[in-house]
Amino acid sequence: MRASWYDQFSDSPDVLRSEQADRTVVSVPTPGLAIEIGGNHFITIAGPCSVETEAQLMATAIHVRRAGTQILRGGAFKPRSSPYSFQGLGLEGLRMLAHAREETGLAIVTEVILCERGIRTFETAMRNTFDAAGIAVLKQITHLPVIADPSHAAGYRELVPALARIGVAAGADGLIAEVHPNPDAAWSDGEQSLDFPGFDAMMQDLKPWLALRNQTQFCAAESEPAEAVR
Ligand code: MN
Repeated sequence: MRASWYDQFSDSPDVLRSEQADRTVVSVPTPGLAIEIGGNHFITIAGPCSVETEAQLMATAIHVRRAGTQILRGGAFKPRSSPYSFQGLGLEGLRMLAHAREETGLAIVTEVILCERGIRTFETAMRNTFDAAGIAVLKQITHLPVIADPSHAAGYRELVPALARIGVAAGADGLIAEVHPNPDAAWSDGEQSLDFPGFDAMMQDLKPWLALRNQTQFCAAESEPAEAVR
């Protein structure tokens, strides 16, 4: 790693890559699936911004699982910019998430570890600016998995599939996307939430890009012995 990066991030040494810690794979305990974040398989996390009702969460969980998602997202505690905005269902939301896990076998996440979800810039057409280079930098400096969040970066659902593709190309270990049965009626972040057909289309659209990335990784791994001989 570059010494300048090491110095820049030296206040949080535990996250930096080293010979002892090159890559951390996070195992997610689920009853049905063996899920690893940061391993060789790209992970998809999807679900509503906020847990709203049992029906909303369950319909979304069943749908995103069918579309190939491994982990369900849903905010139970939502500290918002305005104290008058919906603040989340709290413990009741966690109970609903636990129920959805039991019913579908999906793992559950309410907060992501290292996650690119946009940065503040002078650009105003989007909610934030998706920092694809930030993903590439993180993959250089940290041993932890990096997840791309195209939903919060874009702010508008039309942009989410394109940013998801960019996240795949930049080397993210997975994707977290907001999905809602009826985005226009969502209690939070409806404009950036995909509806079910939109999510299906994005997942289909990502397949060749993921295949291309796997192929590239495979080729790189294969070429290593030749490099060593030379
Ligand atoms: Mn949100």
